[in-house]
Amino acid sequence: MTYLAADDRYDSMTYRRAGRSGVRLPAVSLGLWHNFGHGRPLDTQADILHRAFDLGVTHFDLANNYGPPPGSAEENFGRIMARDLKPYRDEMIISTKAGYLMWPGPYGEWGSRKYLISSLDQSLKRMGLDYVDVFYHHRPDPDTPLEETMAALDHAVRSGRAQYVAISNYTSEQTAAAAKILADLGTPLLLHQPSYSMLNRWIERDNLLDTLEEVGAGCIAFSPLQQGLLTDRYLGGVPADSRIATGGFLKESALDDQTMAVVRELNEIARGRGQTLAQLALVWALRDERMTSLIIGASSVKQLEDNVGALDNLALSNDELDAIDGALTN
Ligand code: NDP
Repeated sequence: MTYLAADDRYDSMTYRRAGRSGVRLPAVSLGLWHNFGHGRPLDTQADILHRAFDLGVTHFDLANNYGPPPGSAEENFGRIMARDLKPYRDEMIISTKAGYLMWPGPYGEWGSRKYLISSLDQSLKRMGLDYVDVFYHHRPDPDTPLEETMAALDHAVRSGRAQYVAISNYTSEQTAAAAKILADLGTPLLLHQPSYSMLNRWIERDNLLDTLEEVGAGCIAFSPLQQGLLTDRYLGGVPADSRIATGGFLKESALDDQTMAVVRELNEIARGRGQTLAQLALVWALRDERMTSLIIGASSVKQLEDNVGALDNLALSNDELDAIDGALTN
């Protein structure tokens, strides 16, 4: 059946501006790191993408290495784009990244111009796109001069391969340096993509949001549900179809007694406000308005709907914030 986007797709989504740019992103974006490789049925993938777009999720986050195998998420996304989403291309913000290992030899990872531009060309081909909206450097490279990496991002824009550029997993200090080089080149930094969740608060200690505010860039956090730990997924054991059981990045060792005690306490706080734990985790991560968006993963339409539903109640009282902090420090 031909996919037709819902007429009411822009009626309820919350959009936030990325820093001082012209771009607004949905407060919940969809990432394709897991659940979109060749091992997952294409129909399920399409169902999740369609429902996301129908709910106003205009931003889809990819990278060269997403799968498994690496590259397959871009291929599958490309198939679904070509078949169903092409008429809506101008309503979508599609990102990809380069930084991790993609091919053997000295030019297959990190941050050289050689790797970044070649990788972006491969990504465009896999997705069947003329350009991506956002091209990221996926991780800092300790050995390549930052000037070279940022000049490659600038070139990606000037050559028409990307509309905007971004960085991921950079510290505050590295971010300030990168943003300065990009500003001098005339291609402003659009976004930084750090990890962030109730169980992973490094960006607070690093004052990353202050740095991003200063340079005018937005923040889009990944794994806000700590890969599923901050949901009801593991409250009754390890389900056979879960990320832990299916060989994803999350390992069973993450479910230690102390963490699970914290998760149960957080689950009670969520229930007390009529939300799921996943929803509470998202509301909490969005509590600072400078957080432009959160990139969630979803293995089903139901999870996606649950997560987008978090936006129905974004208010958190001081008592609730204190209770959450109390649970996290126990
Ligand atoms: P999340 O923390 O949102 O974890 C997603 C997983 O949590 C799902 O696959 C699912 O697990 C479970 N889940 C999601 N929603 C619910 C729900 N409502 N109820 C119960 N369980 C739920 O994010 P990810 O770790 O998937 O990362 C999101 C995106 O961030 C990636 O796709 C990628 O785009 C980006 N990312 C970027 C990185 C970077 O270095 N820049 C690194 C990692 C991610 P299950 O599969 O078991 O059902």
